[in-house]
Amino acid sequence: MISVIEGQAHILAQVVRPVPAESVPVAHALGRVLARDLAAPFDVPPADNSAVDGYAVRAADLVPGGLARLRVVSDLPAGSIYGGTLGPGEALRIMTGAPMPAGADTVVPQELAEREEGTVRLEAVDAGSNVRARGEDVRADAVVLASGAVLRPQELGLLASLGLHEVWVHGRPRVALLSTGDEVVEPGLPRKPGQIYDANRFALHGLVEAAGATPVDFGIVPDVREVLRTRLLEAAESAHVVLTSGGVSVGVYDLVKQVLAEIGGIDFWQVAMQPGRPLAVGTIGESHFFGLPGNPVASMLCFLLFVRPALWKLAGRRRLEPPRFTAVAAEPMRKKAGRREFKRGVLTFTERGWEVATTGPQGSGILSSMVVANCLIVLEESRGDVKPGEAVLVEPL
Ligand code: AMP
Ligand code: MG
Repeated sequence: MISVIEGQAHILAQVVRPVPAESVPVAHALGRVLARDLAAPFDVPPADNSAVDGYAVRAADLVPGGLARLRVVSDLPAGSIYGGTLGPGEALRIMTGAPMPAGADTVVPQELAEREEGTVRLEAVDAGSNVRARGEDVRADAVVLASGAVLRPQELGLLASLGLHEVWVHGRPRVALLSTGDEVVEPGLPRKPGQIYDANRFALHGLVEAAGATPVDFGIVPDVREVLRTRLLEAAESAHVVLTSGGVSVGVYDLVKQVLAEIGGIDFWQVAMQPGRPLAVGTIGESHFFGLPGNPVASMLCFLLFVRPALWKLAGRRRLEPPRFTAVAAEPMRKKAGRREFKRGVLTFTERGWEVATTGPQGSGILSSMVVANCLIVLEESRGDVKPGEAVLVEPL
């Protein structure tokens, strides 16, 4: 028996090389992982500019507590620059974002201005008001995004503000998905008595995509040794990671175990956790292999705990831990010491803060518990039964 944390560390130690980098358009880079440090080629904003529509002036010309009457030298539209230097007694009509003219240090908003023919009367503002300084957002040559950063919408905007339209990111890991079991049928086809529809391949497909990787569908494989062997070898040829579900427990038909012992270097783990004890982990050729349990909740959970961090590392991410925080248990929870238990939970924000209750029955085949849940409740190994009011760890789903 190994612990969850030992298992995770062992898996991450096996992932040594991320998927090679490729250049993609910034517009298509959402969720991708930056492959190189990125330094700003110039200051952003590139020049001191006005933060409001108004009048650029020399602060010394304003009259504290009164009105200053200044001569308007020009009306500057957005995108233009004023070639001259603003002299004493002069004001320049300026738009938001337009570069400050030489000589000016302050902008008076138009709400504080009364325009007349050729002149303007301005209320006083503090010296330097309403001016955005060159480089106040980003300094030239500063590393603005580090390799390993996940590109969110704001990162895409920043890249674009630096004039970039292509960016080097890690390739998406390709993940082959196979379901095993003679009882498992493809949704959309007729189901005979004794058969069940394949839930795992579809849940795993979604989890793979949500983790930023690309699923490759290898369908359902019957519990027939030669077929399984051939399909696993094919899958390993075409993907960075091969994922199966089912067939890793001790049933007579649990062939994944036997076939893998022949074709790859695979360990069979009993992980001290609930749900999801049996897990097969290793390599087939150049590919990483994970044999997940057949029960739907267990296979999803094992994916989140063991496969997702590996996919994130393959994709070049730096941060491999999901966000976690504590909430107050709203009900008693049964817990066996010595293993890590994961309950499906419903997290609510109340006037007392975050509270969490379980979704009800926690069997590892009860997929609807995952549907009702908005978090996992993580109960550590050392812990026994939980009393209402105790703090527990939660991981949003
Ligand atoms: P196994 O580990 O193959 O014995 O499977 C454990 C349990 O999970 C059995 O009840 C299987 O019928 C069920 N199961 C296996 N594969 C799937 C699947 N792809 N979708 C839904 N349930 C499955
Ligand atoms: Mg099976």
